[in-house]
Amino acid sequence: MKKLLTISKDQRIKVSSKIESYLFPKFIYLNVEENTKFMIQKRNIKKGEKIFCQDHKTILSPVSGTIEGIIEKEGKYYLKIENDFKEDDSYNGVKEYTTKALKLNFSTILEETGMDTTRFKNKQRMILNGIEDEPYLVTKTTLHKSYAKEILSTLDLLASAFSMKAIQICLKENDRESIEAFSSEIGTYPNITLEILGDMYPIGEDNILKNYLRLKEETYIISTEEVLNIYEEGLKKRSKDIVFVTFTGDAIKNPMVVKVKIGTPLKDIIKELLEMKKCSYDILLNGLMRGTKIQEEAIIDEKTRAIYFMKTKERKESFCISCGKCIEVCPFHCNPYRAFLKNEPVIDPKCVSCGLCTFICPSNIKLEHYIKGEEK
Ligand code: SF4
Ligand code: SF4
Repeated sequence: MKKLLTISKDQRIKVSSKIESYLFPKFIYLNVEENTKFMIQKRNIKKGEKIFCQDHKTILSPVSGTIEGIIEKEGKYYLKIENDFKEDDSYNGVKEYTTKALKLNFSTILEETGMDTTRFKNKQRMILNGIEDEPYLVTKTTLHKSYAKEILSTLDLLASAFSMKAIQICLKENDRESIEAFSSEIGTYPNITLEILGDMYPIGEDNILKNYLRLKEETYIISTEEVLNIYEEGLKKRSKDIVFVTFTGDAIKNPMVVKVKIGTPLKDIIKELLEMKKCSYDILLNGLMRGTKIQEEAIIDEKTRAIYFMKTKERKESFCISCGKCIEVCPFHCNPYRAFLKNEPVIDPKCVSCGLCTFICPSNIKLEHYIKGEEK
């Protein structure tokens, strides 16, 4: 096992433990592709109605309202819906099961919703990867605090439906709130245990985690979000229309977690909830180490987990001093130094873009760009 790192953090960035909500945007925007197949002919839709099919997935409307049409934003196309704020949250027709019936029929119940369950079959063990891998990110912690009971009961049902012998929930030792949330509920689940790991980066990467735990048997690694999707869509038959997003960074005065409607423009959140410092900043989506730069015009979608507002810093690249640190640190035995020396992309499929080589480089060379063959 190669060396993992403890990343130094700016202790002044503190994310509030209170969850804010932004559930009623005036307009929502759903990303559509050229090949999107629309399933509706009318303009007025209700929340939860099927609107289109994309990548074999049926997209349901997160709000009730009027379809305005397709618009372009930064080279992407979106279906724009004006919210009429009349959404009905009563989910009728959901069949209630007894615990025994659930345990016996859980795989069939999930398959009836169209969920692909083959990923769980013939696995002996399941690991809940509850580790937040990026600094200043508390989305998983928030979900653990709010839904520990639901997460545990869904894991237990999955274990019995697919005959898994054990489940481990992996958390970092400094994530005290998640540890407390699970510790107070776990007693009734003898097959589920907590595994507390050090604060090392990138230990939350699935392959690293598997190696670290020295797992030999067939194991399925599941994320906190995936468990909650199974709970909501499989068990409660509710379409996913909200996400929990951490808004953080040194350019905002009030970092916070927000429960936000999918399709909401980021600009709405900035205007309504965030207090920006008077400075120029970069906006990064889903990570400080492995995130991508976005603009204020971005739309919150179902994959949005975190948005970082970081003060713009000059990070001047200088000459390579051949220290070898980038090779030493890579947890996947890649050679970013060779990619840099060749001054051309050396695409190594083992690279997971964890960003450690760039982070460690004393000359500020953006090494993962060389190794991934991305634009420099
Ligand atoms: S970004 Fe890629 S090459 Fe660099 S340390 Fe991570 S896995 Fe290795
Ligand atoms: S860490 Fe940076 S300076 Fe050191 S060998 Fe790698 S590229 Fe060169």
